[in-house]
Amino acid sequence: MDFYPVLIEKLIEEFAKLPGIGHKTAQRLALHTLNRTKEEVREFAEVLVQARETIKYCSICGNYTDKDPCAICSNPNRDKSIICVVEQPKDVIYMERIREYNGVYHVLHGNISPMAGRGPGDIKLRELITRMNGEVKEVIAATNPNIEGEATAMYMSKILKPLGVKVTRIAHGIPVGGDLEYADEVTLSKAMEGRKEI
Ligand SMILES: [Zn+2]
Repeated sequence: MDFYPVLIEKLIEEFAKLPGIGHKTAQRLALHTLNRTKEEVREFAEVLVQARETIKYCSICGNYTDKDPCAICSNPNRDKSIICVVEQPKDVIYMERIREYNGVYHVLHGNISPMAGRGPGDIKLRELITRMNGEVKEVIAATNPNIEGEATAMYMSKILKPLGVKVTRIAHGIPVGGDLEYADEVTLSKAMEGRKEI
């Protein structure tokens, strides 16, 4: 059986490092790359490098941005007294899609999971606490409706309430055990409307 040239093997290896990509798919992507024009491949490579070098975390909310502070944090029309706390940058996109929320965000970059040995110090909770400047009236815990998300919401409530901040939890309606990712816009909008203090 013939093997591929070393460079093709390397290309397959690189694709196989991507999440959700098995060896077969990696092989298909590598061969597809070789079938593209040199210009297309160069552009693809440049976008990869540029994105990695330019995109950073917003120093206020922790979301991905190409300028700091991000477009949401620096928008004077956004209500800075409400912070919607989510687990991942992609969750901001889902919340923004419902077009009703006018507050700002905080991205935790994870959740609290005693099972996985992930504590409060492993996510951006300290950064959230430093945002409690007296101007913040409500923190919405929009973490995922699973064990980790609930534990994270309860912890936030425990540490923020003594600071005089109202902590609310988005309503269920989002399938339990699911992700914000799988909630459609109507469900997410209802979940925001029906949020309750915790
Ligand atoms: Zn921001």
